[in-house]
Parts: sequence; structure tokens; C-alpha cells
Amino acid sequence: MEKVILIKYGELSTKKANINYFLAKLKDNILIALKDYDVKIEYDLGRMFIHTNDFSNVLKVIQNIFGIHEFCIAYLIKSIEFKEVTKNIINLLKETTFKTFKVETKRSNKKINNTSVELSKMLGGEILKNIPNLKVDVNNPDLLLNVEYRLNNTLIYYETLPGLGGYPVGTLGKGLLMLSGGIDSPVAGYLAIKRGVKLEAIYFESPPHTSNEAKNKVFKLSRKLALYNNDINVHIINFTAIQEAIYKNIPHEYLITIMRRMMYRISAIIANRRNCKVLINGESIGQVASQTLTSMSAINEAVKIPVIRPVACFDKLEIIEIAKQIDTYETSILPYEDCCTIFVPKHPVINPDLKKCLEYEKLIPYEELIYNAIKNHEIIKITKEEINEYSDLL
Ligand code: ATP
Ligand code: MG
Repeated sequence: MEKVILIKYGELSTKKANINYFLAKLKDNILIALKDYDVKIEYDLGRMFIHTNDFSNVLKVIQNIFGIHEFCIAYLIKSIEFKEVTKNIINLLKETTFKTFKVETKRSNKKINNTSVELSKMLGGEILKNIPNLKVDVNNPDLLLNVEYRLNNTLIYYETLPGLGGYPVGTLGKGLLMLSGGIDSPVAGYLAIKRGVKLEAIYFESPPHTSNEAKNKVFKLSRKLALYNNDINVHIINFTAIQEAIYKNIPHEYLITIMRRMMYRISAIIANRRNCKVLINGESIGQVASQTLTSMSAINEAVKIPVIRPVACFDKLEIIEIAKQIDTYETSILPYEDCCTIFVPKHPVINPDLKKCLEYEKLIPYEELIYNAIKNHEIIKITKEEINEYSDLL
């Protein structure tokens, strides 16, 4: 009998024609996440097994991988003979503390003559005979023993842990996350990764109006996302010239609307270059003046690429709850200025008029400014291991 880690797929198993693609990606992602450990992975259309000797560390890493519905310690018995299977199970259960139990059997090997229900009853009877003071409880057992008769072996497990769910990162292509140092955008990024989207990130800075601390905050948040995304490329755009031009030339109530239209335009160009199919951001309906439906629509008009807003319909408290779960909250609330916060007008327009946006934009040479910002932009690859390299920044 071999002790292994069992992975159950959940939603992935509904992918009929593409299932092999999803499973191969899940295996690759697990191997990347476990590259520091000695592991071997085997899988079929129903189950994946990790062979290792380092159970506690591997289990910790598995918790952060999307595409896993449930996981647990399991045992593989190299036999489908009832006697042999029963002997192994009884030895295993003798070392486990419980008073009541239930057996649930699956039988993918149809060569076995007994039905699943018969097998459960037979095995339950043997357990009662061999281990004293136990009772069967079919409604609320202390221990639910799962027994799966497979082609050449039998799988046993009785304690499953919930995985993160979602799809393996990368299976749904790439997206570009507009990542500020705030609370909302890292959560938006996390939710997009959950649906299988591999992220790159873009950050707009305005030195000297924004500080290095503000940028380091974004690196730190990126590192948190890298945990789920395998690694993450962060595009740093110097936005100073564009913001100053907007500030000097455009009526102040439209500062934010025009600034965001510029951010969208730059993001769309970078996305296109990097083969990212969508932009992702942390906008939430009604949260600030630039996130009313009229504002979002006036801003969105600047680009053709689809914009996904994973937290659009979440309350701030719901967003904060996820930020705490993924450990970005404490970093996000550090009080460094963002390029959106430094040029804030007293009375930003709540219902911007698209015609006015187009008119005001003519007051600055924005195409040239955008060209320069992109020409000089920097890309930094953040991996979860880079904590040491960046430790002075974090
Ligand atoms: P967040 O909490 O994510 O900063 P927010 O509520 O502060 O969001 P805004 O500042 O209006 O809202 O920004 C809305 C979205 O625009 C952000 O969630 C983020 O996706 C993007 N964004 C804002 N500022 C920047 C920036 N400096 N660099 C990259 N993206 C940004
Ligand atoms: Mg912000």
C-alpha cells in the first residue's frame, strides 16, 4: 500500500473535449509550484496522484493551486482482490480514531462482479468484525471511508480538504491586470487567475509625484499574485508627462476621466503586444466618481479590447474579505500615494460627456505622449522566489 496525495478535479471534469488540455496544464502548474520538492505525478481522466515523501510541504503548496476541487492523503493498494484490499484497510483503520463510520464504494472496474453497494456492505461487515467498538452510521459518520476499485489498483481515502477550485492558470489565455497599490485591483487579479487567466500586470507611476515606496508596494502585491500565477511580468509605465499635460491643459473636473482614458489606451497597446486578450481592473460600480456607469462607459470608449471587472458588483467589505484571505490587504492599506490620488480635482465629473472628452483630449498631444511612455517602459518579472532579491523593497 502506497501513501499518496490525491487530487480531485471538480469543475474541470465537465470539460469534455478539452479535458486532456486542462489536465496537462494542471499537472504542469503543480510541477512548477513543487519544483523544490521531489515529486512524481500520474493522472487519468478522473484522478491525479502526487507521489512524494514530503507530505506536509506538498500539501501546503497544493492549497494555492487553481483547478483543484479537493485534495487529500490517500492510499493506493496494488490489488483489486477483496481479501487483500480488506486486510490493508483494516490495518490502516486500526491506527485511526473514530467511533462511527460509513463505507462508500465506487467501481470503475466493471470486471468486479459485486455491485458498489454490495462491496460497501461486505467491507463494512469485515471492519465491524475486526475492529472492536465501532458502529455504522450512514447519516453522520465520524469517518467516511471512500473505496474506489480501479483498473489495477484500489484507492482509499477518508479525509478530503477543499482546494481553491477554478481553472488551471493559463488554460484560458492571458490578460493584462491594471495593478495599482490599492485594495481592489489585486483582488480583481486573483479572481481572474481563478478562472484560468494568466496575468501580466501594468502599473502607472508618476515620479517624482509618486514615490519608490508606492512602486515597491506594487511589487509586493505582484509577488502575492505570483503565488497563483506561477510568476508575473509587471510593466512599469512612467505616466508623469501625460499627467502633467492633462493637469495643465484640461478642465479639472475632467482630469480623472481623461487620465483613465489614457491609462486604458496604453494598457490596450501593451496587452496587444503581449498577446493579452483582455484588460482586467479593480473598478467597482459606484465606488468613486470615475466608476459610475456613465464614467465607465466614457472611459471604456477609448479602447476596443474587452475590459473585465471582476469586482464590479462586489461591496467594498466583500472585496476586503478576499484581500485578507489572499494576504494583500495589509500591503494595500499602506499609506503611499498613487498617481490617481495626487492630481485629484475638487469636483470630478460624475456623468462625463463623451463629446467633451474627445474635445478636451485634442488639447494635448496624447498620441506622442503615449508613444514615448510605451517606448521607455520597463518590464520586471516577479516570481514568488524573488523575495530575497527584492527583500530590500518588500
Ligand atoms: P484600487 O483599490 O485597485 O487602487 P480604487 O478603488 O482606488 O482601486 P481607482 O484608483 O479609481 O480605484 O482605480 C480603478 C482601477 O484602475 C484600479 O482598481 C486599477 O485596476 C486601475 N488603476 C488605478 N490606478 C492605477 C495605477 N497607478 N496603475 C495601474 N492601474 C491603476
Ligand atoms: Mg487606487
